[in-house]
Amino acid sequence: MKLALLIRRSSNQYGVPKLHRFSSVPDIKLHLNKAAKLNNLKHATQIHSQIVTTNQTSLGNINSLLVVYAKCGSIKHAVLLFDTNPRASTSVVTWTTLITQLSHFNKPFQALTSFNLMRTTGIYPNQFTFSAILPACAHPSLLSQGQQIHALLHKHAFHTDTFVATALLHMYAECGSMSFAENVFDQMPHRNLVSWNSMIVGFVKNKMYGRAIGCFREVHSLDPDQVSFSSVLSACAGLVELGFGKQAHGSIVKRGLVGLFYVKNSLVDMYCKCGLFEDATKLFCDGGDRDVVTWNVMIMGCVHSQNFEQACTFFQDMIREGVKPDEASYSSLLHASASIAALAQGTLIHCHVLKTGHMKNACVSSSLVTMYGKCGSLFDAYGVFGETKDFNVVCWTAMITVFHQHGCANEAIELFEEMLKEGIVPEYITFVSVLSACSHTGKVDDGFKYFNSMAEVHKIEPGLEHYACMVDLLGRVGRLEEAWRFIKLMPIEPDSSVWGAFLGACGKHGNVEMGREVAERLFELEPDNPGNYVLLANIYTRHGMLEEADEVRRLMGINGVRKETGCSWIDVKNRSFVFNVNDRSHSRTQEIYEMLKKLKELMKRRGYVAETQFATNSVEGSEEQSLWCHSEKLALAFGLLVLPPGSPVRIKKNLRTCGDCHTVMKFASEIYQREIIVRDINRFHRFINGSCSCRDYW
Ligand SMILES: [Zn+2]
Ligand SMILES: [Zn+2]
Repeated sequence: MKLALLIRRSSNQYGVPKLHRFSSVPDIKLHLNKAAKLNNLKHATQIHSQIVTTNQTSLGNINSLLVVYAKCGSIKHAVLLFDTNPRASTSVVTWTTLITQLSHFNKPFQALTSFNLMRTTGIYPNQFTFSAILPACAHPSLLSQGQQIHALLHKHAFHTDTFVATALLHMYAECGSMSFAENVFDQMPHRNLVSWNSMIVGFVKNKMYGRAIGCFREVHSLDPDQVSFSSVLSACAGLVELGFGKQAHGSIVKRGLVGLFYVKNSLVDMYCKCGLFEDATKLFCDGGDRDVVTWNVMIMGCVHSQNFEQACTFFQDMIREGVKPDEASYSSLLHASASIAALAQGTLIHCHVLKTGHMKNACVSSSLVTMYGKCGSLFDAYGVFGETKDFNVVCWTAMITVFHQHGCANEAIELFEEMLKEGIVPEYITFVSVLSACSHTGKVDDGFKYFNSMAEVHKIEPGLEHYACMVDLLGRVGRLEEAWRFIKLMPIEPDSSVWGAFLGACGKHGNVEMGREVAERLFELEPDNPGNYVLLANIYTRHGMLEEADEVRRLMGINGVRKETGCSWIDVKNRSFVFNVNDRSHSRTQEIYEMLKKLKELMKRRGYVAETQFATNSVEGSEEQSLWCHSEKLALAFGLLVLPPGSPVRIKKNLRTCGDCHTVMKFASEIYQREIIVRDINRFHRFINGSCSCRDYW
C-alpha cells in the first residue's frame, strides 16, 4: 500500500480537519516543529502526506520528520518513512538519525542491523553515527557487539574523538565492564567534564563507590556540575560515607547548586541511607521546590530506615500537595506495606493504582504481587498477576516467589517453565526462587537441571544463595554425604547461609557428627547468631545427649549471645496486636489462656504430645507449660477469640517458629476449620485442615 494513502486514511479516520497546503519549505519546518512540540502523531502524519503530495521529499525534510515521528512516540512510522524513501539510504545523516532513534527506543538489534546495512551500502559512519550506535550496545548481553563497534572505531580513527570516546566508555560502564571503560578513559587524549562524569556515573552504577569518590576528587579542578555532585552523593550513600557526603554538601551550598531538584534529591537520599533520617527530613522540608522524585526519595528513605508508617504519611501529604504519585512512589509504598504485612493499607494503595491507571506498569504490578504475597494473600497476588498485561521478568519472578513462599512449589516450577516458553530471560533472583521451590518438593533432578542451566544456558554464575538452595535440597531428602561433597566442590567460599542450610538438614535427619562439625564452623562465621546454638542444642537433646546440649547453651552464654525473645503480631480490624513470650499484658489475657487450655485438651484427645525438647530455659517438669506460653500460640488464641468464624488467622513472628507451635497450628487449623498463616523469619506456613504448606520442613 502506498504510504501517503495509508497516512491519509489514518488521519481521516481520526476526523482531523485538513490542513492548508504548504507552499514553501519554511512553512513545513514550522509545522514539523509544532508537531514535535505537541507530540501530535496525527499532525505529523498529515504533514507527511503533504510532503509526499507536494513532492517536497528533500533529505532535510525526511530527517526532520523522522525525529518528529520519534518524538511523537512512533518508531514504527519513523522506520516506515525511512524504508519507503529510496533517497534516505543515501545519506549518512539520515542513517544516523534512524539509528539514534532506534537506540532511543531500546531496539538494539534493529539499530545494529541498520548500522551494518548502512556499511554494506558503502556509506562510512561518522563520529555522530558511532555516538548513536554505541548506546544501543549499552547492555551486558550486548558487550561483544559493543567491542566490535570499538574495533571499527579504531579502523575509522574516531577513538581519539572526545565525544565518541565518552560514548564508548559509557557503553562499557553500562555493560558492567569498568576495566574496559577505564582503558578507554586512560587513552583519551582530551577529556572534558562529561567524560569524567561518565566515569563517576559508571563506577556508581557498578557499585564501585570508592572509585567513584576517587574520580570525583580528581574532577574537582574541572569545576564539577550537578551530575558530578549527585553521582558522588549516590556513592556516599552506597558506602554509608557520611563524612565525604557532608563535605560534598558544603561544596554544593557554596556553588549554589542546592536548589536543583537533581542535587537536592541526591542529598536527601544520601542522608537517608547514611541513617540521618532527621537531617534528610529537615532538608526535605526546608522550603524549595519538590518534585515527584523528591517525594519518592523521601518515601523510599522512610522505607529504608523502616519508618513504614511515616512513609504512608508522606504519601498522603504528597497527594494533598497536588503532586501526582508515579510508578516509583507506588512501588516504594507497596514495599512498605509488604514489610509490615499491612494488608489493609496495601489494598488501599491497590485502589489508588487502579484509579490512576498505573496498573499497566510492570514495576507497580510486580510490587502489588509481592505485597499481596507477603501479606499472606496468595489469591489476590495471583489475581493481580493474571490482570497484568505487560509482563517482564520481574513480574514473573515476583509471582514465582509468592508461589514458593506459600508452599505451592509445583505451581512455582510450572510458572517458571511457562515463563521460559514465553521467551523471557530469567534473572539471578528468579533462580533463587525456582531452586527453593525444587528444594521444597524434594525434586533433586529438577533442581540440578535448573542449577546447571544457570551457567550453561543463561550465563548466570550461581551465587551463594543458589548453592544454599542446593544444599537445602540435598539435605531435605537426606542425602547428607552428597550435600557435604557438594559444598566441598563449591568454587566460591561457602558462607553461613550454605552451612546454615546444612546444619538444618543435620538437625532434621539427626546426624550428630556432621551437625557438630558444621555448627563449629558456623560459630566461627557468625558467633552472634543464636539460631545455630539452638539448632545444635536441639540435635543433642533429641539424641538424649543432655550434657552436650547444656554445654552448647553454656558456650552461648560465654560468647554473650542472647536469644532474641519471641514476639508475634496479629492484625485484627486494621489494628496490630503484639504478643511476647509469656505475655499477660493484654486486657483479655484470662480468656486467651483459657482458650489455649481448651485447645490443648481437644488436641490431646486427638493424640497430641507436647514436644518438650523445644522448651528451652525452663525448669524441669514445667516444660510443657512453658511451651504453651510461646508468643505465636497467644496470638493464635486471641485470633480465634476475636476473628469472625471462618476468616483466616494471619500471624507474624520475629523468629523461626518452633516445632511444637507448628504442630499446634496444624491441629488448630483442623479443629476450628480455619486457615492459619504464620509468617516467620524464614518462610510462610499456611495451615489448612491439619497440614502445613511447608511439608514440615523449615
Ligand atoms: Zn513455639
Ligand atoms: Zn510449616
